[in-house]
Amino acid sequence: MSIRRRVTIVGASVAGCTAAILYAKEGHSVFIIDRKSLNDYKINCTHFIQPLALPTIKKLDIQEDLEILGATKSNLDIHTPRGCINHSEVFSHAINDVFGYNVQRKLLDPLLKKKMASFDNITFLERFHLKSVERDQYGKHKILIKGDSTELMVESDLLIAADGGDSKIAKITNNNGEVVKSGKFTFFAYFTGIPFKTSKHWVLNNATVYAGALTKQLTLVAFFFNKKEINLWKNNHGIDSKMLDFLGSLEGMPNLDKAKRASDIIWAQNIDNVYRKCYHNEIAFLGDAAMKTDPVSGTGCAFAFKSADLLFECTNNFLHNPGSDIKEGLMEYALKFNAFFRPHFEAISSTSKQEFLRPSDENFYSLVHKNKIIGKAYLKLIYRMISPKEFQNILISNIGLPIE
Ligand SMILES: Cc1cc2nc3c(=O)[nH]c(=O)nc-3n(C[C@H](O)[C@H](O)[C@H](O)COP(=O)(O)OP(=O)(O)OC[C@H]3O[C@@H](n4cnc5c(N)ncnc54)[C@H](O)[C@@H]3O)c2cc1C
Repeated sequence: MSIRRRVTIVGASVAGCTAAILYAKEGHSVFIIDRKSLNDYKINCTHFIQPLALPTIKKLDIQEDLEILGATKSNLDIHTPRGCINHSEVFSHAINDVFGYNVQRKLLDPLLKKKMASFDNITFLERFHLKSVERDQYGKHKILIKGDSTELMVESDLLIAADGGDSKIAKITNNNGEVVKSGKFTFFAYFTGIPFKTSKHWVLNNATVYAGALTKQLTLVAFFFNKKEINLWKNNHGIDSKMLDFLGSLEGMPNLDKAKRASDIIWAQNIDNVYRKCYHNEIAFLGDAAMKTDPVSGTGCAFAFKSADLLFECTNNFLHNPGSDIKEGLMEYALKFNAFFRPHFEAISSTSKQEFLRPSDENFYSLVHKNKIIGKAYLKLIYRMISPKEFQNILISNIGLPIE
């Protein structure tokens, strides 16, 4: 059996669902599949959504629902070896203006799928996976998809790969991308008895720790250590007390007498950074399928929202005009994607491959900590609200010296 739609999307997670909803709001017919089931959600995620995502969340009309579900408005205090960069100090208590969300994926992913279900022009098939991608003589894409007992051919004007960091479409089309290895591994768990309001991030010499409030009772804690330390943690039977001892030694950590692990420990050993072509073989790549970054940056979901929004903005008008050539919109997407995301990728991946802090990093943190304007700009960079270049300009003009 063969089906035709304006837009076909493979992967119904943050990037895929965002794109589906934005196109459907404009009246385009959308076909979207996921190999997992409707109620599945991403487990390997620490649930911090950067402020960068807020404009797209508003556009999707899901902000109110997110808050009703219990998403916590969130921002970061960053504890460095040279002092704390405190969000409410540098933003003068402006939590209502600059914030992201701590929202569990078990809430966010079903919400996005529920939103998709409210559009008659979106067809979503769960437990369907991609088998092959073809192009006909007119350049239109056809994908063959397979469910439990059915195979379908789907043809569309725009094919979108939103199938995550291990993208099968990228493999089929040899869109291998550039890989920057991370020097770290990570593990995280949920705890009760750690009373947190928003999120904190500790930058230590050989580790990074993140803690974020998910509900009044539940706090997620993630550890990022140098890869050489994996056996020290993974083969350790007393890991709970080791984690709590480590947390107890961190500046600004509340009293941990009642702290208790409330979930399994989730490990992620491959957290390498990958940058692919976001427009390749006439296919648009979104989210992790286009760019995967070390989770220590906590940026993947916001980047998934942003890339879907960017693609939509660049191609929507072309889809409204059947005579026009959508390639122009896809080329514009590639230009804008690279201009926006590449500098963030370079900054994140260069920190990611480092195993230890360097003396120059400590000097840098000292500057960021002491100067409120630089501190504010630094948090805006971490929230991905400004580019590394804009941050560098603010840094230079506020210390009067060029930096490397
Ligand atoms: C340990 C860890 C912690 C993280 N913490 C954070 C965080 O705090 N904040 C943050 O913003 N980001 C975080 N991330 C990153 C974030 O989880 C991802 O960036 C985000 O989920 C990317 O969304 P996506 O839609 O691009 O891809 P994914 O969420 O990976 O979704 C891809 C979808 O495609 C489907 N799929 C794949 N192949 C096929 C196929 N062949 N056929 C059909 N369907 C297919 C999958 O089932 C899946 O639903 C973390 C990542 C890790 C590993």
